[in-house]
Amino acid sequence: MIIYGYNSTAIATEQLVNITCPNCETKGEVYAFILRRHAHVFWIPLFPIGKIGVAQCQHCKSEFKKKQMPEDMKRAYQNVKSDARGPIWQFAGLGIIAVIAGAIYVNGIIKDGQNEDFIHAPLKGDVYECKTSNGYFTTLLVDGVNGDSVFVFENNYETNKKNWAQWN
Ligand SMILES: [Zn+2]
Repeated sequence: MIIYGYNSTAIATEQLVNITCPNCETKGEVYAFILRRHAHVFWIPLFPIGKIGVAQCQHCKSEFKKKQMPEDMKRAYQNVKSDARGPIWQFAGLGIIAVIAGAIYVNGIIKDGQNEDFIHAPLKGDVYECKTSNGYFTTLLVDGVNGDSVFVFENNYETNKKNWAQWN
């Protein structure tokens, strides 16, 4: 079972100094609260998916959603919202994916390098993966090395998949 969804985190709280509360007429007591939502998988934040927020008067505790705000409050709120930057950890999941992808890539390079080492210095017991002329894969097992000759057992099976190793 994969648990996923979204969470939000508070990223800005700012006093809207010039704004008067339309409910109690108090000036400078309205605050903008901005949150940034992020998608998560197993509670690991994956990436941000937008900002949400609300304005609240600290005097009368009235809350104003964006569409309820008078024009001046909405402008001040939007300024706070567009300036608010979320924390980088909301990208943690993407970072983890990038690290894993990078590790797989590096591992592939190392494996390629090992194959090259084998070819330059074949030893008894080495196994080569070969692509046969008809496009199938097979493997060769090194039995012995004598001067410039390498004696191999050929796998009796060919496959169209890599990583097949069945010796007869
Ligand atoms: Zn108020």
